[in-house]
Amino acid sequence: MSSPEEILQHIFGFPAFRGVQRDVVGRVLDGRRTLAVMPTGAGKSLCYQLPALALEGTCIVLSPLIALMHDQLRAATAIGIKAATLTSADSNQAETIARFRAGDLDLLYAAPERATSEGFRNLLRDAKVSLFAIDEAHCVSEWGHDFRPDYRLLRPLLDEFPDVPRLALTATADEHTREDILVQLGIPHEGMIVAGFDRPNIRYLISPRQGTTQQLVDLVAEQPGAGIIYAQTRAATEKLAATLSAKGREVRAYHAGLDPAVRAKNQHDFVASEDMVMVATIAFGMGIDKPDVRFVAHAGLPKSIEAYYQETGRAGRDGEPSVAHLFWGAEDFARARQRIAEVEPQRQPGERQRLTALGALVETGGCRRRILLKHFGEDPPETCGNCDNCLNPPATVDVTETARKFLSA
Ligand code: ADP
Ligand code: MG
Repeated sequence: MSSPEEILQHIFGFPAFRGVQRDVVGRVLDGRRTLAVMPTGAGKSLCYQLPALALEGTCIVLSPLIALMHDQLRAATAIGIKAATLTSADSNQAETIARFRAGDLDLLYAAPERATSEGFRNLLRDAKVSLFAIDEAHCVSEWGHDFRPDYRLLRPLLDEFPDVPRLALTATADEHTREDILVQLGIPHEGMIVAGFDRPNIRYLISPRQGTTQQLVDLVAEQPGAGIIYAQTRAATEKLAATLSAKGREVRAYHAGLDPAVRAKNQHDFVASEDMVMVATIAFGMGIDKPDVRFVAHAGLPKSIEAYYQETGRAGRDGEPSVAHLFWGAEDFARARQRIAEVEPQRQPGERQRLTALGALVETGGCRRRILLKHFGEDPPETCGNCDNCLNPPATVDVTETARKFLSA
């Protein structure tokens, strides 16, 4: 068997593991049950793809969305991994099953609802399964932000194969959800590996909004490279896209109301381009693998700190310097408060807490990164040197200094 390092270099073409990848891969190759909590873009897929190549048999990947599975399948096949999807959308199911039986697959992607199918279980019993990878594992938890009842069907299936290692993967940051995933999927506490959430190459800038679009026009004029601008509404994305195009930049719009073919083309053009700007609603971004996004701007307040982190995290996945610039106004908070008043009463305290946390982030005169990372349970240094407040400390009244003057007068 080749070493993990050799597989990494020769098959994946990467010179080195990133962050906790080596630890996760090591545990999986030792057959130990593991939960990997790694931010979006940290490289979770490699943590099961590499063992899938190193171990004998097929790795079963359970994933929530057919579209995500097909993206992953394309990427895996492109580097020569023998992979297939087994979903209701696939017309070649018989062929896939035959390949699986013949031991001709490193990876088999399936939806969690398959877990209850007797046919699927028999299939797994007949062939050799090397690993169960449970992607987007927070879907198993009602505490998570995306609970999917189908994920609760997985435990009985996993327990039928107690000797097959299991690897759960998620980007979810919240403590409560992590604990719940361990319990729901039968992973011991010592099996949890959490990666750091800091993205040091992203420069965080947050400014009060003045007027409607001039600040965004200026930002786009100053920022080379591809960028994403998140706007609040479908109408706003189209209007802003038109304004920016008129300034000579290549711009596309993206929102759920566009014709699917137009949406797919705009996304494709953006991924292929080196300097295009995508003006989008938050419908844009999930599952998009573009490492060289140089800036992400928010034309208004995001939904939560988690959403802000995830959306800004689409910048600079290649590790090169990148910018995240958020513009906000008091009216964003007013609108958010109004929205909260309309949700079910039992959800209101949580929503209010999320809004307060966002308020602290945008209004602080201190380090933005520190607030962000503390939110995710880390204890970062007082200053980061790469956010607006660290680079350019706002003028504040120095109370001690003032007091000293009075005392010495
Ligand atoms: P996640 O699922 O954690 O959001 P992905 O698995 O989609 O992240 O990986 C994000 C990007 O990082 C992909 O383009 C992937 O090819 C790249 N990547 C993964 N591991 C490495 C590595 N060790 N070195 C360089 N790039 C990597
Ligand atoms: Mg992923």
